[in-house]
Amino acid sequence: VSLADVTTADVLAAIAECDDLGRDAFLAKYRYGRALKFVLVHDGVEYDSKAILGAAHQHATGQLPRPSYSGGVATVVARLTALGFDVRDTTAAPRRADSRIGEIPGVSTGTSFATRREVADAGVHRALQAGIVGTAATGAESVVVSGGYEDDDDRGDEIVYTGHGGRDQTGRQVADQTFTAPGNAALQTSYLTGAPVRVIRGAHTGSPYAPSAGYRYDGLFTVTQAWREQGRSGHLICRFTIIALDTTAPSSPNTTPQSASSTASPVDAPHGQAAPERRAAAVQRLVRSIKVADYVKAVHDFTCQACGIRLQLGARAYAEGAHIRALGAPHHGPDIPANMLCLCPNCHVLFDNGALLVDDDLCVRVNGKPTGALRTHASHIINPAHVAYHRSIHQ
Ligand SMILES: [Zn+2]
Repeated sequence: VSLADVTTADVLAAIAECDDLGRDAFLAKYRYGRALKFVLVHDGVEYDSKAILGAAHQHATGQLPRPSYSGGVATVVARLTALGFDVRDTTAAPRRADSRIGEIPGVSTGTSFATRREVADAGVHRALQAGIVGTAATGAESVVVSGGYEDDDDRGDEIVYTGHGGRDQTGRQVADQTFTAPGNAALQTSYLTGAPVRVIRGAHTGSPYAPSAGYRYDGLFTVTQAWREQGRSGHLICRFTIIALDTTAPSSPNTTPQSASSTASPVDAPHGQAAPERRAAAVQRLVRSIKVADYVKAVHDFTCQACGIRLQLGARAYAEGAHIRALGAPHHGPDIPANMLCLCPNCHVLFDNGALLVDDDLCVRVNGKPTGALRTHASHIINPAHVAYHRSIHQ
């Protein structure tokens, strides 16, 4: 008997037993320790990968595997990955538990707040003063548009937003803004990753889209341009075009938008559109997908697995997370690292169009010619079934 005898059903049975017993009792029963490095992620919950596979082995064969596990942790990860499970190295990528990208559960688009304090307490914009919440590493979580900058241009679904910095205490622009200022760097990261940004509008007279009083959460936007130009003051300012994602309705037609402030009139609320549930699901999927891509890019340090190029953009590096088996109908690939490659934009286009193929031995072929081995990393094991699927639909 070997690990090859373990099936998906055995692993699911072990996961169910762990859910049943609780983590500590489960580990005690099978005499395993907590996972120090590799966890199996199932339905959003992390499990100790080696203990789960050990219990699954017992389920399949009636006995625990030999303690040495022939090959150790690499074998465990490879087997669970080949069975289609999501195994991640908890030490490989920065854990961003602290960042809250995307919708805040329970806060629908159009929700009103009387004060910045209420906006912050709801977790919608977690700063009382700063207009941008986020970091260069995580991207921007949220921005407040409240007419503080003379160069802001609010056109409803599209906002040309001014970065921060370079102003004196009276709010006059007295120096240049830079992309190294933390909020501006955060928005630049959002531009590069495509991650959504929450927009909160505050009452002011300069925009017909501003609420009449207090603050209003106006949904998720995405940054489509980032540049620097001379502002009205004559100093350089950072500018960002941000456009509304298609999510401008309350998440359920039966839910009245909560109102923390009775002063905001209902006519301020943006127009709803059909099938908001579906859009909300699509945006949550986008957010998850970006987190998977963040992990894969961090493991490979933004180096293309196919050609070895690491695109440098000033102080940053740029790479793309390419799904091997596409998400959605008709391919139904899973949104997990085992189904993703870290690629440069050129190789991404080649791969998506089938001009770049990866063989079972992980050799890369471009337009039929071998170009070398795919760059791999022990913390990012690719499921060979997805690579085979990609070849099958392109050759
Ligand atoms: Zn490349």
